[in-house]
Amino acid sequence: MKLFAVIGNPISHSRSPLLHNTAFGLLKFDACYTRYLLENGGELKKKIVQLGLNGANVTVPFKEYAYTQCDFLDDMSQAIGAVNTVSVKNGQLHGFNTDAPGFMKAIEPFGNIESVLILGAGGTARAVAVALVNAGKKVFVLNRSRQRLSFFDTLGIDTFTPTEFQADVNCSLVVNTTSAGLADDELPFDIELLRSILGGSQYAMDAIYGKKTPFLRLADELSVKCKDGGDMLLWQAFFALEKFYGSELKSSELLIEAMRRSIV
Ligand code: NDP
Repeated sequence: MKLFAVIGNPISHSRSPLLHNTAFGLLKFDACYTRYLLENGGELKKKIVQLGLNGANVTVPFKEYAYTQCDFLDDMSQAIGAVNTVSVKNGQLHGFNTDAPGFMKAIEPFGNIESVLILGAGGTARAVAVALVNAGKKVFVLNRSRQRLSFFDTLGIDTFTPTEFQADVNCSLVVNTTSAGLADDELPFDIELLRSILGGSQYAMDAIYGKKTPFLRLADELSVKCKDGGDMLLWQAFFALEKFYGSELKSSELLIEAMRRSIV
């Protein structure tokens, strides 16, 4: 039997086991996927090997630790500087980032998006920005503080703090990647700034899933078409499965729908 786990802290809320075990059941794969609460990010590689895992997903706050401890990295994780998927081969860790393609798949239903404003500048924002830049989209990033914006500056992206934000930046899509609204009921920025930003946009998405955040409630109020991060979660899990199983994994509508239903 193959063994997989999602590793993070906290981890009890994670829906990754539901997604992966649903897929294993449907595909009749002899495999099991569990959760692992890690205290010390420096021990990530050691734990993955000790537990005898065939693969793992790494989540908050260990994606950068995974990046530094993998033996091999794919191009996407190198560009982002973070790993969310680890495949173990002969005791060596192969690192990938499937948040980036997961995000691109999640926004497909919005159609052809030309420009995107990303709210936040953490690991998720980096994955989203790299995916969008690679797809040739115009990207802007707004964050409450300047320190983490330097990564985006090096990609040639226009970056702002709230006081620097220019009112004429109108984007078809606004994505909230801040953690405002995750464990609280806060908007990521001043409501008037967000009203003006969302007022000029067609679509909004929150990376947070499973709840209507204040950001999504505001988008609704302004009649901006919006979605939460559920599809991003689903697709990053599907792309992780592809990394674990390679050509053994056959994609199908049935599989995707079963995975989607498992997290509703
Ligand atoms: P990080 O901790 O790396 O980054 C958090 C960002 O949010 C930073 O830019 C931080 O700003 C900003 N921020 C935090 N709190 C506030 C606040 N109260 N108001 C305004 N800005 C705030 O987190 P991640 O990028 O790893 O994750 C971000 C979110 O994305 C989480 O909610 C996570 O659950 C979600 N996520 C969803 C996924 C999915 O598949 N749907 C995948 C991965 C993540 P500063 O730089 O100033 O500290």
